[in-house]
Amino acid sequence: MSEDKLRIDRIQKGTVIDHIDSGYAITILNLTGLDESQNLMTIGVNVSSKKLGRKDIIKIENVFLNQTQMQQISILSPNATISLIDNFRVIEKKKVEIPKVIKQLIVCVTKTCISNSEKEPIDSEFLVLEERPLKIECKYCERRYRLNEIYFTSKEKSGKKIKQALNL
Ligand SMILES: [Zn+2]
Repeated sequence: MSEDKLRIDRIQKGTVIDHIDSGYAITILNLTGLDESQNLMTIGVNVSSKKLGRKDIIKIENVFLNQTQMQQISILSPNATISLIDNFRVIEKKKVEIPKVIKQLIVCVTKTCISNSEKEPIDSEFLVLEERPLKIECKYCERRYRLNEIYFTSKEKSGKKIKQALNL
């Protein structure tokens, strides 16, 4: 490995999201709103990995993830690890954890679901039935979803609340 490559690979301060399922890096950037960041970012797609065969990796300078972003990543890629870097060193490394109940991040598409009530909408809640492959159930109308059927809410993007389906 050349020295130039090393210099690009290492970041002084920020976050490394590693062990992302291959092909999901762009989706993660889009959902978490990190794609709007002005900070230096390095994205590796289909990097060879001993553990996963192929994986994606995101390195982003001067950014630390919030709880919402960590949960979004856990839904899309439950094997991902998050490393916090300071002064070129890993100061903390954690595995993302998919919560037992996912609140607010996902939209139920059942029109009559109480979470979509026009008058008194309540926050969506989904029970995680299976992590991998993901299977979740709306707590209110019991509709079940797999990963590719999920609509996410994203409050991160430019402060707007938008509803988006991701092409997985
Ligand atoms: Zn529902």
